[in-house]
Amino acid sequence: MMLQDRVGEVREQFERIFGTRPQTVVRAPGRVELLGNHTDYNEGFVLPAAISMDVLAAGSLRDDEVVAAYSANFDTLVAFPLSSIEKDQVNTWSNYVRGVLHFLKESGVRLQGVNMAISGNVPVGSGLSSSAAIEMAVGFLMQTLIGFEMSGPDLALIGQRAENEFVGVSTGIMDQFVSRLGRKDHALFLDCRTLGYEQVPLETKAIKIVVCDTMKRRGLVDSEYDQRRAQCEEAARLLSQWIPNVRALRDVSKEDFELYKDRLPEVIRKRAQHVIYENERVLKSREVLNVGDYDAFARLLDECHESARDLYEVSCAELDTMVEVSRQAPGAMCARLTGAGFGGCTVSLVRDEQVDAFVDTVRAGYAERTGVTPSIYVCTAEDGASVVQQ
Ligand code: ADP
Ligand code: MG
Repeated sequence: MMLQDRVGEVREQFERIFGTRPQTVVRAPGRVELLGNHTDYNEGFVLPAAISMDVLAAGSLRDDEVVAAYSANFDTLVAFPLSSIEKDQVNTWSNYVRGVLHFLKESGVRLQGVNMAISGNVPVGSGLSSSAAIEMAVGFLMQTLIGFEMSGPDLALIGQRAENEFVGVSTGIMDQFVSRLGRKDHALFLDCRTLGYEQVPLETKAIKIVVCDTMKRRGLVDSEYDQRRAQCEEAARLLSQWIPNVRALRDVSKEDFELYKDRLPEVIRKRAQHVIYENERVLKSREVLNVGDYDAFARLLDECHESARDLYEVSCAELDTMVEVSRQAPGAMCARLTGAGFGGCTVSLVRDEQVDAFVDTVRAGYAERTGVTPSIYVCTAEDGASVVQQ
């Protein structure tokens, strides 16, 4: 469905629930991680893009201190007072709304009661970050309605805190950041330590970003994720004995790493090597995209997969199969796993004129080899959070 039709639909839903027209409608997109695999918690670099799938939020201010939020996806209305924002054990989706309002309030924003209707087409739990999209849609809606001053990075931080501390899911800052600050036909280069960022041209008319969902849910991901984090901290600690000023793997150049890597235990060395070279790839991607060298960019994505599979060991049979099938499909320029790993999605760059053939071939090829039909999303790089109707 086109954006305008979806906006019309969410306005109708708002009217049906609240009996009036919404003052405004905003949108905030999901995202795809193009490069920067497990670099965020190593204080390194990432390169995501905001995508065309998004969460819409229609809203109006109320005269009282009550928040009433309806999700069309869950067909549920919740209401709570701004004076005591509690966690909801039943309608857990509303904790994303509650968390954002809680941390806006805590940061000193003078909130007002609000009616809102939310409707998203970011697939939930597929690795395209519907959670960041709802957080940024709610935050941006409040900012648009009330008109308080808050920078994009600060609103992203509010969303991250809502997710980490209110919902209770630990994530980096990438998802919220790009959902708020992404730009059409650009990827976003982000330094996860300083939150410095740069819009990097990524023209998605001739080349599409295609996300293929293995349909394998990320089972082991929590324990394995914690273990990888600990191994990276250990690597940084060991390397800091020999290299000055190392606080995180972000601080280790590949030249220094090559000098000292043989002193590291094998598993620690492999983890560190992935992160250090992945940071190099993100830096390199900014250079090649700035001169429009999409073939070089595609090679970096391919290298990323090999490294995630062999050094960081976060791939799985389903992801490797999807990557193999994708790389052989018409129009494919590259393929890699995206996100934490152990299941979830791959991302490919695909030439636009062959994108339909790519999708058909990958769908059939993956189904033939695994017995499972994948979901496939053809994406473009889009703007971050924006007002779609005043
Ligand atoms: P994802 O990979 O999509 O971010 P998460 O588990 O992090 O998966 O977040 C998904 C959760 O976000 C959903 O279970 C729901 O609680 C919330 N959510 C996402 N989109 C919506 C929506 N349109 N309406 C209500 N809640 C939503
Ligand atoms: Mg999420």
